Amino acid sequence: MTTKQCITSLLLLICFSIFSQTYITNVTIVNIEKQKLISNQTVVITDDIITNIQPTRKIKAPPSSIIIDGTNKFLLPGLTDAHVHFFQNGGLYTRPDVIDLRKHMPYRTEIDLAHKSMEETLRRYLQNGITNVIDVGATYNFLKQKEEFNYKDDAPSIYMTGPLLTTYEPSVYENLQHDEPFSLVKTVEDGIKMVQEQLPYHPDFIKIWYIASTGSENAEIGAKKYLPIIKAIINEAHKNNLKVAVHATERITAQLAVENGCDFLVHNVEDEILQDDFIKLLKKNNVIVCPTMTVHDGYAKTLGQKINIRNHELLKANPFQLGSLLDLKHLPDTLLISQYKKYFNSKVAISKSHKSDSIRMVNLKKMSDADVLIATGTDAGNIGTLHASSYLNEIKAMKNSGMSNWKILQASTINGAKILNKENEFGTVSILKKANLILLNANPIEDIENITKIDRVINKGVVFTPNTLIKETPSALAQRQLNAYNLRNIDAFLEPYADDVEIYVYPDKLLYKGKETMKKQYLKMFESVPHLHCELKERIVQGNVVIDKEFVQFGDKVIEAVAIYHIENDKIKKVFFIE
Ligand SMILES: [Zn+2]
Repeated sequence: MTTKQCITSLLLLICFSIFSQTYITNVTIVNIEKQKLISNQTVVITDDIITNIQPTRKIKAPPSSIIIDGTNKFLLPGLTDAHVHFFQNGGLYTRPDVIDLRKHMPYRTEIDLAHKSMEETLRRYLQNGITNVIDVGATYNFLKQKEEFNYKDDAPSIYMTGPLLTTYEPSVYENLQHDEPFSLVKTVEDGIKMVQEQLPYHPDFIKIWYIASTGSENAEIGAKKYLPIIKAIINEAHKNNLKVAVHATERITAQLAVENGCDFLVHNVEDEILQDDFIKLLKKNNVIVCPTMTVHDGYAKTLGQKINIRNHELLKANPFQLGSLLDLKHLPDTLLISQYKKYFNSKVAISKSHKSDSIRMVNLKKMSDADVLIATGTDAGNIGTLHASSYLNEIKAMKNSGMSNWKILQASTINGAKILNKENEFGTVSILKKANLILLNANPIEDIENITKIDRVINKGVVFTPNTLIKETPSALAQRQLNAYNLRNIDAFLEPYADDVEIYVYPDKLLYKGKETMKKQYLKMFESVPHLHCELKERIVQGNVVIDKEFVQFGDKVIEAVAIYHIENDKIKKVFFIE
């Protein structure tokens, strides 16, 4: 390229960027900070920045701009999930320290999958209106991979720490080198060294896994024993201008962490009701608390085999990870699996989890009423807490604690930005902030679940229609209907099928046609057959055809069957059964 050509193309680029404008007209802005809805506004986005906001009558969109009619719609800042882990996939095999199923799924395969699916996982976040994610415990390999997504329009902004600094490491994670999610710290010197070791990988903050008791040890004694190490890590991180997040679920660890300068607590206290002094300290030190209300429930429901997944998740989650949560119904380790099932359905476990649930709820309400900064975070990636789609469950749990919709929205937007002092960059619909926005079809103040009614997601200034963010695939369609079948959810089961679906006995005997007939057939089965579980033994995908070999537990019988799905226009158009 000649210099002239080079200059010309540079000018073109500059001109293009000058005129790359989007006008969202006649929209109602959800003003998070003032807790007000401001109607009939026009918001101007230039490149990736909000450059103007005025009443619609005062501003005219030039014909060269992209115009989005915001009539009857609500403009909200993009959401933040302040507690995720990309090294975990959300499915059954992702935490071998909790349940060791490595003989069915090698841990290496899980790690590789987490890396390979990161791009899709990020798109899923965006699809759910989450334009910022904070990974509070990653690996060096994920810190490296994060760089790939920094400038991608279809990836949320990612903030990430390195491995969790901990005084206790589960043995399954040892010696994984750059895939290791933990760095074991035994002394004060180790603590300082481990912070310095992370610096070349450019973490956005440092995270401590403050585990005071791993069984017989008393939490108070353990917490105090490890305190010098915790202090040393916090001091070294602060010296390097890095904030410190701490995992602390006991009152004693949370209190010691806060007294010694931690910036961000990634869990709620769940063993004691918080005293006013501690709440005052949280406020005085500007500590942000991510209450992480639902992650425990994901474990209890999966391992106790009492899964109840809402339609929202059946449609929006990664269907393969979601499907794996049901594998305990057919994996051959009957002894191990039945022990988990027995424990999570025992009176002791149920009353323990009721107790910690209710303490979490009371503590959240107390902190929220006292205006402690709360940030929404799911702990996604853990078993049963699926990336992106679990956000709604977390919001609903916050709602159940008694928080107002305005406060929940603050926790999900501006407070997430405050964790890393990014409140001048994103978190409200304001001039000069990043154009990370969601346009909703319904008012989120009237009903917080309306945050799922997304018309457009605007990320880094680029406008997306949510459904286009995740590419439909034949195997995803087949998997979604299989998941819903196993959960006896008729609406989610029918969703992947075409309205005029045809069901055959192979090769050409038509059984029936149309979704309505199909609904009647399956509804009857879902309501009446006592044991119903379909195990996928093998799947072949060829173009638009999916061939599933299945073992179906049907009442007392086990039937071996093959189902052949023909996909047309992103729906299952024909099914052929071979029994
Ligand atoms: Zn976590």
